[in-house]
Amino acid sequence: MKDLDKKKFSTKAIHGGESYLREIGHHSAPIFQTSTYSFKSVKDAAAAFQSFANASHSGEELPYIYARLGHPNGKMFEEKIALLESGEAAIGYNSGMAAISGAIFGLLGSGDEIIHSPSLYGGTHGFFYNTCKQFGISAVSVDLNDEKAFKAAINKKTKIVYIETPSNPTLEMFDIAKISKIAKENKLLVAVDNTFMTPVLQRPIELGADIVIHSCTKYIGGHGDVVAGAVISSKEIIEKIRPNTIELGGYIPPFSAWLLMRGLKTLSIRMEKHSEIAMKVAKYLENHPKVEKVYYPGLTNFPQHKLAKKQMSNYGGMISFLIKGGLEAAEKFLNNLELFCLAVSLGATDSLAESPALMTHAFVPKEEREKSGLYDNLVRLSVGLEDADDLIADLEHAFSLC
Ligand code: PLP
Repeated sequence: MKDLDKKKFSTKAIHGGESYLREIGHHSAPIFQTSTYSFKSVKDAAAAFQSFANASHSGEELPYIYARLGHPNGKMFEEKIALLESGEAAIGYNSGMAAISGAIFGLLGSGDEIIHSPSLYGGTHGFFYNTCKQFGISAVSVDLNDEKAFKAAINKKTKIVYIETPSNPTLEMFDIAKISKIAKENKLLVAVDNTFMTPVLQRPIELGADIVIHSCTKYIGGHGDVVAGAVISSKEIIEKIRPNTIELGGYIPPFSAWLLMRGLKTLSIRMEKHSEIAMKVAKYLENHPKVEKVYYPGLTNFPQHKLAKKQMSNYGGMISFLIKGGLEAAEKFLNNLELFCLAVSLGATDSLAESPALMTHAFVPKEEREKSGLYDNLVRLSVGLEDADDLIADLEHAFSLC
């Protein structure tokens, strides 16, 4: 389609990456559920391998040989997500963690260092301090909102600044434009985990970041039925990362890519609705006598509300709050929810609730967790698309029992 990049977001979300379908005469995408691709002759096969070896690996000219190296569903998904995140190219992965490790191992090597924002998804924290360490890559946690501390932490080893904003689970926010400016002055790359916001609500590349990472398991898939990830960046960076991704074996499977293509088509209406319902739930929690503190960037008294307003177009569906009565009350509350499903993950049509201290972030050291406000009595909610009144009634019922 001509000038698709100049169209509005929802048009891009529906039509992006679909030109191949028009070429093959399909309205919706078939699932290319094949592990390998056949050739008419050995000469053709050899030529495909040669062109694969010589290709730029930014995703455009790769021939189809074997599904771990690439396939039409992966390519269509990559085109769509790159367009939506205002990147030049993308790679699909078989999980969010595969996307994070693919980007880090594709760009960093032994002796390099990652500077990261203090509050991170537990799995990312584990990867930085276990696997990266094992391969000679160090990580250091710095309050990136403190310009002085950020600048002081930069040294010869630093290669990348890794930000999760808003962070999981305390919704801590980091100023992408400001951090990217300092990073650029110091020739550092900036990677942003945009899982919580999606490109509907925040587009880090437009704010100056180099790389966007997603756990597509969450809002991009949107229905709680796929584990997948993506890295979006410039062609140059994607070219560097893809060969490692292929060797590490984390490429996205065809059915997962198909599900994500479908999820992306409704992403903008889902994100607006998640935000609308979550705002009602956050306001209810804010006034509840059993709630100590609510973390939701859309609340006017959230400490970083101004920054949220500056770099996001709405506030999303994730809320965390501290319940009065400690861990015991948190457990009781979670056990008594009915509509909210007690489960990790987030971003699905149905609402989920969990205890980060006991579940998603159980393996992050307690003193690290508490630095960013992740206390034992924190409850994390992923607000789905049910009616807000029914969700509030479910919360009220659980509060009444603890
Ligand atoms: N990034 C964030 C912010 C997450 O919440 C998660 C998982 O919960 C991940 C990355 C990892 O993604 P996945 O579980 O798809 O590997």
